[in-house]
Amino acid sequence: MQTSRMGAAKPVMMTIRLFIAALTAVVLAACSQTQQEVNVLQPEKPVPPVRNKGEGKPVRPAKPRTTPTRAPSVTVAAPRPFVPRKPGHRVSHVNVPGKYVAVTFDDGPNSVYTPQVLDIFKRHGARATFFVLGENAARNKSILARAAAEGHEIANHTSSHIKMTSKSRQAVAREIERTSEIIKSATGFYPTTMRPPYGATNPPLVEMMYNDYGMYSILWDIDTRDWQHPGVSTVVQRAVGKAQPGSIILLHDIHASTLSAVEEIVVGLQARGFKLVTVSQLIEMGRRAAGVTEPEVPAAPAAGTPPAVAAPAPEGGAAPEGESAAEGAAVPAAEPVPAGAGESVLGGSSGEVAPSPVEPAPEPVL
Ligand SMILES: [Zn+2]
Repeated sequence: MQTSRMGAAKPVMMTIRLFIAALTAVVLAACSQTQQEVNVLQPEKPVPPVRNKGEGKPVRPAKPRTTPTRAPSVTVAAPRPFVPRKPGHRVSHVNVPGKYVAVTFDDGPNSVYTPQVLDIFKRHGARATFFVLGENAARNKSILARAAAEGHEIANHTSSHIKMTSKSRQAVAREIERTSEIIKSATGFYPTTMRPPYGATNPPLVEMMYNDYGMYSILWDIDTRDWQHPGVSTVVQRAVGKAQPGSIILLHDIHASTLSAVEEIVVGLQARGFKLVTVSQLIEMGRRAAGVTEPEVPAAPAAGTPPAVAAPAPEGGAAPEGESAAEGAAVPAAEPVPAGAGESVLGGSSGEVAPSPVEPAPEPVL
């Protein structure tokens, strides 16, 4: 009986063992599945900060390109007379296949001089570019409206002539946006070009101007230094005598002496066969010309296109002060173009502009 009882209990024990074995297998399988899921998720875990081998400090993640607290860009809906192919340009000269130059006036508009400048340009069928200060533009919107209606370009020169390289990005943004809004309200268009006061800019600012506002940073290759009042004949000689195809000529429409030279400059340039166009028109010509010769770069223009025109050497001796001197010094004739800097489709440069002395305060508006 004992044997038979033992024999009867065996199947029961086997069943229990099998059950335990099966249960164990299920539990192990479940554990394995869980482990697999964890492994799958692991790659998405936050990666610990990369450490700088030299200093042992965590490398800070890249900053967002835009400042979160900044108001929406004023140029979100800005009209675009042209679409730059290469961002981040600053332009001091444009390689164009023809005798075109851009005459530019900074620091206005001036209620007395600017309308007379417009009269002269209208009389001779010429176009100019006005890099206006927001503070002056706010007081002379009708002048801006007239200038735009007559085909001139209205461009941004900050609101209060700040040295952008000495200000925070937020301060720069405020100055630029304020001025662009005034220009928009006066002309119906946001500016697509700007000129840094004193010529003081740098690659991050140039990039900011383009990325945030769609504006080229415009310098010049001919500095008349009209603000030094060297005399009408000297200003005329500098502007007319040095002009080359694609030149950008710097003047200020806030000086009586400059006004006295404007008509001779216009007539003199036209007598040399130059057509006076806006900066944006000049850039557009350069882009079209470059498009024909792609993938050529300015340093090696393709056959059939005029060679790049070197900027004239700065006049002897460094000027002691002033925007012109500072800006002129910032655009040396032999300015090196970094390889692969994307230059030159337009002939500009992406190099940093050297800091400059402070420009004397503009003459009082008469
Ligand atoms: Zn200026």
